[in-house]
Parts: sequence; C-alpha cells; structure tokens
Amino acid sequence: MRLSRYFLPVLKETPREAQIVSHRYMLQAGMIKQASAGIYSWLPLGFKVLRKIENIVHQEQERAGHIAIQMPTIQSADLWRESGRYDAYGEEMLRIKDRGGREMLFTPTAEELVTDIFRAHVTSYKDLPLTLYQIQWKFRDEVRPRFGVMRGREFYMKDGYNFDLTKEDALHAYNRHLVSYLRTYERMGLQAIPMRADSGPIGGDDTHEFLVLAETGESEVFYDSQITDLKFGDRQIDYDDHAACAAVLDEFTSRYARTDETHDEALFNEIPEERRRTARGIEVGQIFYFGTKYSDAMGAVVDDGKGGKVPVHMGSHGIGVSRLLGAIIEASHDDKGIIWPEGVTPFHCGIINLKQGDAEADAACLSLYDSLTALGLEPLYDDRDERAGTKFGTMDMIGLPWRITVGPRGLKNGVVELTCRRTGESEELPPADAVAKIATIYQGIA
Ligand code: ATP
Ligand code: MG
Repeated sequence: MRLSRYFLPVLKETPREAQIVSHRYMLQAGMIKQASAGIYSWLPLGFKVLRKIENIVHQEQERAGHIAIQMPTIQSADLWRESGRYDAYGEEMLRIKDRGGREMLFTPTAEELVTDIFRAHVTSYKDLPLTLYQIQWKFRDEVRPRFGVMRGREFYMKDGYNFDLTKEDALHAYNRHLVSYLRTYERMGLQAIPMRADSGPIGGDDTHEFLVLAETGESEVFYDSQITDLKFGDRQIDYDDHAACAAVLDEFTSRYARTDETHDEALFNEIPEERRRTARGIEVGQIFYFGTKYSDAMGAVVDDGKGGKVPVHMGSHGIGVSRLLGAIIEASHDDKGIIWPEGVTPFHCGIINLKQGDAEADAACLSLYDSLTALGLEPLYDDRDERAGTKFGTMDMIGLPWRITVGPRGLKNGVVELTCRRTGESEELPPADAVAKIATIYQGIA
C-alpha cells in the first residue's frame, strides 16, 4: 500500500478521552473511531489488525478440529426463556422489539442458539464429539464501557461450544481448548496465563480465564512467578490425544494462578515468598465446562448406543478478538507508539522515502516495494511529500516492526537502512539484502 493512497487518519493531538495507552494509540494511529459509548467503527489500519487476529483464531480453531459456523446477532427471546436466561441475564442484555411486537435481543453470547441447532440435527452419539464455533459481534450493555475496545458494548468475540457424550469427553474438549488457546495467544506475541476463575452468569464447574499481565488490567491476579517461564512454543500436539492435552493442562495450570474472585490467601502463602506475585491482568479469553445445564433445559439429547437417550455434556469457550488489539498494545508499545508483534502487524514493513521526487530514491523505493510484494509480503510505502520527521513519527506511531529507509546519500553507496521498531537498532545494507532479511523474519509467520 502506498500511504498517499491509503486512508490513515493519524491524529496530531493527544485524544483526551483516552485513559490508557492502548486506547490513546488506537485513536492516534487512526485505527478506530468512536460511534457512540462503547461502540466503534474500525478504520482501515484497525480493521486490518482485527482481521489478522481473527485469522489466527480461525486457523488455530480449525487445527484443533473445531468447525466454523455463523449465527445471527439478533435472536428471539423465546429460546432464552427455555434456558431461563432471558430474565436472569439482566440489564447487560440489549432487548429489542420487532414491528410485530415480538421480543428479540442482540446476542451477548450464544449457548441457546447453538444448542437449538444441535438438537435439531444431531440425534446419535455417533455424531459426537462436535465443537462448533463462530467469530461474531456481541453486544453487552456494560455499565461502564471504557478503555476503547477493551471494554466495549459492541465487541468481536470467538465463541465455541463443545458437545460430547460423556463428562470425560467434554473435559477432553476443555483441555483441547486450553491447548489451542495457548498456541493462539503465543502466535500473537502474547503471554496469556490460564488462571482458575469464577463461572459467573454462564454457570459452570470448571473454568479458566486467560490473562495478559498489564498494569492497566481490570482484574487483580495472584500467581507463582514460575508460571511466566512456561512457553508453549512450537510443540506439535495431537488434539485427539487425551493424555497429551491433559499433560499440557497440568503443566500450565498446576502452579498457583488465580484472579481475585477465586484467590485463596492460605494456598497462596504456601508458595515461597520470593515467587509470590500480585499484579493486574487483562482477560483475553475464558473456557468453561458446564455439563448438561443447557442440554437438560433445552432437551439436547442423543442416543447413547445402549437404547437410551442422554443429555450431551457441553462447554463454551470465548476469545475476546477485539479486546486483543488493546491487550497487545498494552503489552507492546513505547512512548513513540505501538510495536506490533510480527504475527499481527497490519503491514509487514514500512518503506520511508527521505527524498520524495528524487528519481533514484523513488525508483529504489518502488523496487523494494515490488520485491517485497512479490514475496507475498505487504509493505506500507510512505510516499507522501512530507518531512522525514513526520514520516518517522507516523511510522513509529503505527508500529510496523520493520522499516526500510531510503535516501539519496545511502543509495550512492548502494545501501538502505533497515530498522527494528522494537530495539531501534539499524543496519545499512544493499536493498536486496534488506528484502531477504525481512523475508526470513516472516518465514512461517506471514
Ligand atoms: P469480563 O469479565 O471482562 O466482563 P466476561 O467474563 O463477562 O468478561 P466472557 O463471557 O468470558 O466475558 O467472554 C469471552 C471474552 O470476551 C472475554 O474473555 C473477553 O476477552 C471478551 N469480552 C467480554 N466482554 C467484553 C467487552 N465488554 N468488551 C470487549 N471484550 C469483551
Ligand atoms: Mg470471562
């Protein structure tokens, strides 16, 4: 993309309404625009990152054997009466009437609708296990929408639902989700720690939340510092292997890590003092096993192969796709702007032309642009007729991890400058070598 043809409404002023850095940078970098309280339009740069995150989520869900569907945002109240949640959900639910006076609602989550799909089409244990998921907009009329996309009223969420014959199978689905979430967050450059949590209004037995440590996080968390040394890395786990998934769960959840809702001071104090940590965290996902709560209420039963009919065991599993943009920025920025991890960056590399209009510099930039594009990478070429300082400022704010700077002086010596956004380190090298280096960095990522 050439910046002169793009739509990147970078703000010069610091937006006053933003209380935390991710919200401020998302506004300043022209990623989002508030439409009303807790509701945002996604501008091109923000939308690009949202799609990158969404793609990673889809890929990891599919890798785990989960199947994508899409359910409507507007649902009928009747289904929610069957489960008893229409009245129980409270004021967070946006209730709507259609022209016929029928009660509808904007989905805050979708256990009822997915259970209705299941009971209409699945009748036999032979069709299990089954996990259906979607990535869809949700609405919750939060009392205090704030921090931009972190606590919106409308937000984008991956919600997945497993259907299993037995509790044991459903617990395997739970473990499988935990494994796939570890992979998902790491691909986004995040460390998200599974913590024992409280089940809240969805109701359930087993549940973990995934938290990204950040000073601005809304949850208070308590953990054993050893947990932050754990990395999932590039392990190849067979998702059908119950024992392998259970082993990962044990490894990542056996050390103390809890939110304030489940915190147990006595247990915490059993950890050696130098390893005890109290911090704040951003919840970027949650997994639940809740047994037959919805299948009992809504009659989602299957033949068990022994002549009987049994309610299926279920769980639901969410990832805060839009919140993740905020969480990633909170975890990865400096005082000049955002620093995108390579896995989610909106463009792979920036190109800055120090002397727009100089025939040689223009040609070198276009040639770099073409070479990167030919390799399947997406560069953002700042070809505006602006001062170098302005171009650097924009590039730093929008946070592309790599930047190539091209100017007449370097070109005389046959070199351009390659700069790493995170470390600020630069090196001079021939254009072809800069391209090769960027290609290597993105191998297996882009
Ligand atoms: P919270 O405790 O933060 O209100 P929750 O536990 O009610 O969230 P879940 O039902 O577990 O949320 O939803 C799954 C994921 O969706 C959460 O882990 C979070 O990342 C994200 N999410 C929930 N509410 C919001 C919101 N208002 N704005 C943005 N993302 C949200
Ligand atoms: Mg939650």
